[in-house]
Amino acid sequence: MIRRPGPAVLGLMLAASVAVAEPAPEVAAGCRALAGVLGSVSMADCLEAGLEPAGGRTVQGRPILMREYPPLAPREPQGRVLLLGGIHGDEYSSFSVIFRWMRTLDVHHSGLFHWRVVPGLNLDGLNAGPAVRTNANGIDLNRNFPTPNWHEHQQEYWVERTGRDPRRYPGEAPLSEPESQWLFSQIEAFRPDAIVTVHAPLGVVDFDGPKTPPRRLGYLDLHRLGAYPGSLGNFAGLNRGIPVLTLELPHAGIMPSHAESAAVWRDLVAWLSRHVRNPPDERPSGEEPPQRIAAGEGYSTRDSCTICQPDDGSLRQNCCLRDTAWKLLLE
Ligand SMILES: [Zn+2]
Repeated sequence: MIRRPGPAVLGLMLAASVAVAEPAPEVAAGCRALAGVLGSVSMADCLEAGLEPAGGRTVQGRPILMREYPPLAPREPQGRVLLLGGIHGDEYSSFSVIFRWMRTLDVHHSGLFHWRVVPGLNLDGLNAGPAVRTNANGIDLNRNFPTPNWHEHQQEYWVERTGRDPRRYPGEAPLSEPESQWLFSQIEAFRPDAIVTVHAPLGVVDFDGPKTPPRRLGYLDLHRLGAYPGSLGNFAGLNRGIPVLTLELPHAGIMPSHAESAAVWRDLVAWLSRHVRNPPDERPSGEEPPQRIAAGEGYSTRDSCTICQPDDGSLRQNCCLRDTAWKLLLE
């Protein structure tokens, strides 16, 4: 007589089949670094997210993980997009929301873009117990990218503007850190047409680089924060000409609602589909030239002041929100 296995036996069989599919040690280590801290991401969520070792490690040896959503033949993607969470270790929501958007891509990836998705760069900061903004060497990774005249401007920024704020210490040299080195080489290799980087808690969307910025993405309104020496937006957006959308979620420790994160994603993809388009001569007609910015908005840097348009409607250089931006950042 053949007996069917009861529920308990089935449970054991299932457990055995799961055990066979052991995650790669690097993936397990990276997922422990993420799921061990993030309340919204379980170990199972992370292991099932299709992440792979990205070829880089943090100062303390934690593997950086990445998920690729490749082109889907025969469709030619409109461009390559790098989506990045967790440059600052204490901005928990900036890691967790990436998992939500990966689940959206799992269902809806249509080949419109070739995505590379990195849920977290600063895994050491996240795991510092309590989490910290900087990496394990005490360096703000978002001030460690090689922007022009880095030494001169960092000195002025860090010493004079921040009063030697340890949370914003840029390091002794650009690209001194393995995490920023990895991201730099990833940008060189992947050549993204747009970079989306997630932070918290300012509750705005910021934009650097060419193209017309979005006026809002979901519940995040455009607010140009200015470009800081060594920041990713300054390096990739202003110096490399890659549009950088910086999504500042309103809370570091509270996730957006599902409706809020879905609305941001919907608007983000809509903006990308209009503005990231290869070849470039297929851009929709009527797109504004990149330097035209809405009245009252604009940005400037101390080294390469960008054209902006103040309230009086004139186009001029060396103006705008710099002081506001510094103040906002330093609050
Ligand atoms: Zn941040």
